[in-house]
Amino acid sequence: MMQTTLHNALAAETEKILGCIHCGLCLPSCPTYMQLGNENDSPRGRIYLMRAVSEGRLQSEAPAFIKHIDLCLGCRACETACPAGVRYGFLLEAAREQILVSTRGKSGGFQDRMLALALKHIFPHPKRLRAVFAVLRFLRAGSILRLAHAEGLVRAVSKQADFALSLLLSTLPQSTNNAHLQARNAHLQVRAGSVETTPLRRAATVFTGCVMDGLFKHVNDATARVLEANGNRLADAPGQICCGALHAHAGDMETARALARRNIDAFDAVESTIIINAAGCGAMLKEYGELLKDEPDYAERAQSFSARVKDVSEYLAAGEIRRGATVNERVTYDAPCHLYHAQRVTSAPQQVLAAIPGLDYAPLDGMQDCCGGAGIYNLSHAEMSGRILEEKIDRVRATNADVLVTANPGCHMQLGAGARAFGADCRIAHVVELLDASYRRAGFYDAADQP
Ligand code: SF4
Ligand code: SF4
Repeated sequence: MMQTTLHNALAAETEKILGCIHCGLCLPSCPTYMQLGNENDSPRGRIYLMRAVSEGRLQSEAPAFIKHIDLCLGCRACETACPAGVRYGFLLEAAREQILVSTRGKSGGFQDRMLALALKHIFPHPKRLRAVFAVLRFLRAGSILRLAHAEGLVRAVSKQADFALSLLLSTLPQSTNNAHLQARNAHLQVRAGSVETTPLRRAATVFTGCVMDGLFKHVNDATARVLEANGNRLADAPGQICCGALHAHAGDMETARALARRNIDAFDAVESTIIINAAGCGAMLKEYGELLKDEPDYAERAQSFSARVKDVSEYLAAGEIRRGATVNERVTYDAPCHLYHAQRVTSAPQQVLAAIPGLDYAPLDGMQDCCGGAGIYNLSHAEMSGRILEEKIDRVRATNADVLVTANPGCHMQLGAGARAFGADCRIAHVVELLDASYRRAGFYDAADQP
């Protein structure tokens, strides 16, 4: 039984594996190859290893296979570079699924086991997930932990714990350092009568996500306000759940498919565009069609679902973006891999920024290069991630930006922690947070009645 599953995961992707013509054009875009110079840590080398496994010349539990697949960030920069159109992201998921199945029951590291437990027993259960995020919010609000972090006390005990705490602290709203204003912003709503109300207004539903809802609710609120201020009617999809991206990246395709089915059921009842502000989740939602292509009850519905998904910048830039008030700040943009490479949304975030009067935009050298965040890669592969992050922050520093904007929670946290660790004096924000700030200054919002 296990052998059948092992055979299927990569063997089912033979066509994609054979698409690689070994030209090597992807090598310079691969962060792990550029750091190590090892062919086995390049896209071409990894595809070669996958082919060896699919043809039975290499065991999927072979340490060499696991090591080189594990070190891949899943950034998909190789897909953008590939002239043959190799869909590396799907191959990587199949390889990780194959490894997961072939090593099931064999003792992995503590971190791997904790991740597997969280993915299986917490993320698919909204109540448990809400409880975990409530604890994390409690921790990040605590002044003792923040002081211990600032004074280097946590670092003295464990570098990894210190970095994890830094990631968590980076989720705090940074659009203003004033706690009173932050609290007030949470209760802002678009001023009645400030948007033309016609039956032709477009309907949009924000995919709230799990990390975004748990730690970046201020970004979800800003997204909703900006959409409404641009003439959209907001709809709800109450049954929506975690998108399954973390599961797919870890090779747990079974849970990823189960979550995809639940989201499709939830959004079937709502006629609207599905707006996502987290690049990793957006890429996943846009690939539900591929994920469920072999399931007769869902294949067609998954295709229609994916066709409705738009990143918030992509959606806004497709129309005329309403202009707000001046924001006099120097801004640079770092493109999340899953927006730039996986979704191929390459210029929409800059178009959104261009609609904000007064912004001084400073292009970031290598903005499309991975920051090293990659889910929990920054904790599981701290050394490689740190090397990649340090290079990124060096380039950010060279822009002299006051604000570094991005569009994915993982990148947001990684860049925030990196700015602290490597000394860049800028705050991190989501693209829509700046547009929201511009609208707030323009007086498009009122304070809502507070409960
Ligand atoms: S996904 Fe990124 S790290 Fe992995 S092989 Fe492709 S370019 Fe390299
Ligand atoms: S660029 Fe594409 S075809 Fe060329 S080696 Fe890389 S994956 Fe293979």
